Amino acid sequence: MEEKLTLKGKVTINGKIKLESGIHIGGTKETLKIGGMDNPVIKDKNDNIFIPGSSLKGKIRSLLEKKDGKIKFDGRGNALPCDCGGCEICKIFGPHDSKNIKEPVRIIVRDAYLELNGKKPYEYLEVKPENTIDRVKGTTIKGGIRNIERVVAGSEFNFEIVFNIYKNEDKNLIKKFIEGMKLLEDDYLGGCGSRGYGKIKFKDIMLIHKPKAYYEGDKNAITVEKNIHDVEELYSKVEKLTL
Ligand SMILES: [Zn+2]
Repeated sequence: MEEKLTLKGKVTINGKIKLESGIHIGGTKETLKIGGMDNPVIKDKNDNIFIPGSSLKGKIRSLLEKKDGKIKFDGRGNALPCDCGGCEICKIFGPHDSKNIKEPVRIIVRDAYLELNGKKPYEYLEVKPENTIDRVKGTTIKGGIRNIERVVAGSEFNFEIVFNIYKNEDKNLIKKFIEGMKLLEDDYLGGCGSRGYGKIKFKDIMLIHKPKAYYEGDKNAITVEKNIHDVEELYSKVEKLTL
């Protein structure tokens, strides 16, 4: 008998992404340039600074795919996201090709906006000059100086991730995603990571479980775990959840 998939509830993880090193900020001009620098942080038309949900989601997915050997090579030198539709990564993020969808995609990653604390967005920006040095003369190569606009280290962004729960074992999908959050903390978000940009840390995390009964009117069905210190603690709190 075919199992009928119905929504059992939602698990939300929110909190702060703290920049431990500056992060490059890109505008529309650069993001439109295909193959240009990967800009993890952008400004909207009102100059609000945010990390697009797609940047965060894509980076965590690619780290998990590398770890689990799920990258698909197309034979033309391109390494593509997994497309099988059946593995944990495809269940969490959706297969690369939507015609391979076998189950509903579990995750929603919201845009993470900069926490302003009463300041203006530009107060969180700095311009970092970088240059290329001529290896013989020891001076800057002509045209080698570039100014890179960065969000300063120490800034915090508010993130939110929502998991749609369809099966009891979906807890393993949340745990798999948290593995990716841990990998990201030891990697970097966006371009120029090997030059020290984009080191981040997740902190002040909250875990909220809203079972189906909550949406049907039972306010008390919701459970909230506040003040989760780090990703490790989040992992153990998720392990104790009853979905
Ligand atoms: Zn897959």
